[in-house]
Amino acid sequence: MIPAAFEYHRPGDLPSALALLSEHGDDARVIAGGHSLIPMMKLRMAEVPHLIDLQAIKALRGITIDGTRVTLGAMVTQHEIIASDALMSVAPILGEAALQIADPQVRYMGTIGGNVANGDPGNDMPGLMQCLDATFHLEGPEGTRSVMARDFYDSAYMTARADDEILTAISFDAPKGGFAYEKQKRKIGDYATAAAAVMLTREGDTCAAASIAMTNLSDVPVWSATAGAALVGTDVGAEAVSAAVAAALADIDPTEDNRGPVDFKRHVAAIIIARAITRAWGRA
Ligand code: FAD
Repeated sequence: MIPAAFEYHRPGDLPSALALLSEHGDDARVIAGGHSLIPMMKLRMAEVPHLIDLQAIKALRGITIDGTRVTLGAMVTQHEIIASDALMSVAPILGEAALQIADPQVRYMGTIGGNVANGDPGNDMPGLMQCLDATFHLEGPEGTRSVMARDFYDSAYMTARADDEILTAISFDAPKGGFAYEKQKRKIGDYATAAAAVMLTREGDTCAAASIAMTNLSDVPVWSATAGAALVGTDVGAEAVSAAVAAALADIDPTEDNRGPVDFKRHVAAIIIARAITRAWGRA
């Protein structure tokens, strides 16, 4: 499969990339690692007359850890996340999730920015970013602004990012306590049938705080406030886990596709969420 003809641009800095986006309007898209966009172009599901490559823009790269605040440049690859000892020491849940994305070839090219900006409900990082309560930083002709990950997703492939904005970075507080990213997929390299990100903190035998988000179980990632609330103040025993799973299932809306019918997805989701909670609690 060959994509339709396009013009290739490789700006060296962010202002030049933004100027190209404004100049070509609907005819232009930025490309990061290309591992979501190029397949879409090859399948002719996306036609992009002007492709603006972000690879040469240094300002979009780098992992910064400032005290407890972590900032990832949009062009940080999934491989760089896994390979960063500093990041893994403060936020190991990122490595656990990134290792479950596709295969090493995809992870060498695929970026955190492309993964969250794409708006594909199957992507793993958006749910994780909601679990972390991350902030997405955008730059456009009107200047810079920030959007919380939990407010970013409107529907499949539709986000709060305007067409003339570029996602520049993602930041979040280094998580505390126990964590788990659980993912059920049909085979190695596949997108999730269901996945869940869980973070829990404990005081003695009691859960003090909980954050639970899910991937590919609705047309957007789902952060479930009620699922987390069902665990806080409990000993995360069987009854509390069941209550949290029931609350999480009430917040999702999976659709039938080649990963299975709705009942199957809800069944898998329940198992995955319970496993993630149990593993996170064991690490808290
Ligand atoms: P690109 O493909 O370059 O861009 C994707 C979209 O985001 C485009 O619309 C582009 O315009 C936009 N975009 C990119 N960067 C920015 C930016 N900085 N600002 C604004 N818009 C931007 N992902 C998973 O999460 N889980 C999986 O299990 C998984 N399996 C995969 C299996 C295969 C075989 C393949 C090919 C891909 C898979 N992926 C999976 C997707 C992969 O992780 C992608 O690389 C990633 O989702 C997109 O990142 P990218 O850098 O390649 O973005």
